[in-house]
Amino acid sequence: LGEPDLHLLDGVDVAAAWPMPGMVDDKYTQGVTGIAAGSATYPGAAVLATGAAVLATSGMVRYAGPAADVVRSRWPEVVATGAVTDAGRAQAWVAGPGIGTGHEGRQVLRHVLGLGVPVCADADAITILASNPEVLDARDPGTPLVLTPHDREFARIAGAEPGADRVTAARELASRVDAVVLLKGHSTIVAAPDGRALVNVPEGSWLATAGTGDVLAGLVGALLAAGLDPWLACGAAAYVHSLSARLAAEGAPVSASGVQAAIPAAIRAVRSLS
Ligand code: AMP
Ligand code: MG
Repeated sequence: LGEPDLHLLDGVDVAAAWPMPGMVDDKYTQGVTGIAAGSATYPGAAVLATGAAVLATSGMVRYAGPAADVVRSRWPEVVATGAVTDAGRAQAWVAGPGIGTGHEGRQVLRHVLGLGVPVCADADAITILASNPEVLDARDPGTPLVLTPHDREFARIAGAEPGADRVTAARELASRVDAVVLLKGHSTIVAAPDGRALVNVPEGSWLATAGTGDVLAGLVGALLAAGLDPWLACGAAAYVHSLSARLAAEGAPVSASGVQAAIPAAIRAVRSLS
């Protein structure tokens, strides 16, 4: 793209990175994804993030939070519990969509950041980190972190809107908080603390609808649990997310549930390229 260290992933790259089960794999080796999302007010965020993780890889998904009953009824393959402290082990956690920014949300985020596994902090988790920087500082040093802000969440945690140079803005935040930053918008920027950056440019704007960010968080979490490098996990998730939207839309607006349902078709489409 004419800029050093700014990458574009194509379908072949994504197909090569996407985890597929092998002969000796089982649900654990494919990655156990933990999802701490949703609340009594926002059970939908839990269903959207959890279901995306279920459809992304062949491992296992655990859900922890107040929407356990709703999640269980929508995704019977998910192991759901009410509290993150009872959830059991996962190889990565997604925390934030719909959890609220109060005391309980802060406790959940503190807990997952102390587990020593990769964490994708989205939505309310980003807002919590913005106003409680000590939670970020206290994270286990072995915890790779991914932040997935839209512009308003970015402004909260970075102190200013991303502005015109979104790649530089994402890189600066990544380096300051030592996390991979996935900056959402029409195009998605993924920046790593070491300066690597990539951009995903979608065909169409079908993702500009409520709940699609929760689906993306579930995809990122599943790829982190499968052991992908966080920067690549974000790039591959953004690619399949925007392709799911295009396949689901086919020229008419689509819901976040529709984007979620098209994840298998999008994975099939990228795999057919390799
Ligand atoms: P959230 O705001 O957390 O629900 O996330 C919204 C999702 O939709 C992100 O993946 C964005 O990158 C994507 N998105 C938002 N607006 C647009 C747009 N105008 N065109 C394409 N994608 C968009
Ligand atoms: Mg969101």
